Amino acid sequence: MAENCNHDCSSCGENCASRDPKSFLKQPHKLSKIRKTIAVVSGKGGVGKSMTSALLACAACKAGYNAAIMDADITGPSIPKMFGVHDRAMGSEAGILPVLSDRGTQIMSMNVLLNSEEEPVVWRGALISGTVLQFWTDVIWADVDYMFIDMPPGTGDVPLTIFQSIPLDGIVIVTTPQDLVGMIVKKAVNMADMMKVPILGIVENMSYITCPDCGRNISVFGDSKVDAIAMEHGITNVVKVPIDRSLTDAADSGRIEEFDHNYYEGFFAKIDERLKDKSDN
Ligand code: ADP
Repeated sequence: MAENCNHDCSSCGENCASRDPKSFLKQPHKLSKIRKTIAVVSGKGGVGKSMTSALLACAACKAGYNAAIMDADITGPSIPKMFGVHDRAMGSEAGILPVLSDRGTQIMSMNVLLNSEEEPVVWRGALISGTVLQFWTDVIWADVDYMFIDMPPGTGDVPLTIFQSIPLDGIVIVTTPQDLVGMIVKKAVNMADMMKVPILGIVENMSYITCPDCGRNISVFGDSKVDAIAMEHGITNVVKVPIDRSLTDAADSGRIEEFDHNYYEGFFAKIDERLKDKSDN
């Protein structure tokens, strides 16, 4: 606690134990309309967090919602490429406008601000956190039912800033079977508890492959532990997504919206059901 604490967190930047984490919350742009915000998190990179964010946005679109993705993975942005978006974001006096995918998903990413997609972002944490916050405060997100935030991996500076500054309706955890799943999930659960944000589900990505000859599912990384771990934490929404070559091809060629095997349909429906209940109450 600060030496001369007056118990008014709004006028103090101190991150002390008695501070309500929600007191850091930032308002979105005054012209934005964002109904639900979901952070997609993982313990490390390369497990399919961006793929999950993209496919959840596609599932929301298919369910008739307006979807958006905030690509908060500033140093490894991959969302625009998956959606085949190569436009630069436009600015007006009022704020920055996200770019639109073919099917109308609003996207903001470091890659739509850089002059070249190959330009590396070699920035320190504070600058990265500030940019992510601007994606929330300075971008005009028009009429969004579901915003998915593709978080940087881990529990460092930038994820912490997002958890504290953006009012999240919940998080989705992405793991892979070999990803020390118990520890990763526990860390994410603890972080979500600290921030008082509910966990809406766990994705076990690259869970198995289906043999193209006999159709049998093969667990290449050993038996899945995700169900037991989810149960341990009272999480009932779990999806297992296979390693699917056509998914990689769709993402690499910028046609993720055309990918028609919807692994996430039931998973998203459960999230929608839960958050609908919440807004009804
Ligand atoms: P992260 O965001 O966790 O770093 P990505 O979503 O970028 O990971 O995925 C890493 C790579 O794996 C990408 O090339 C992506 O296309 C591929 N990938 C992700 N999930 C699958 C899957 N289920 N089947 C096949 N390829 C996948």
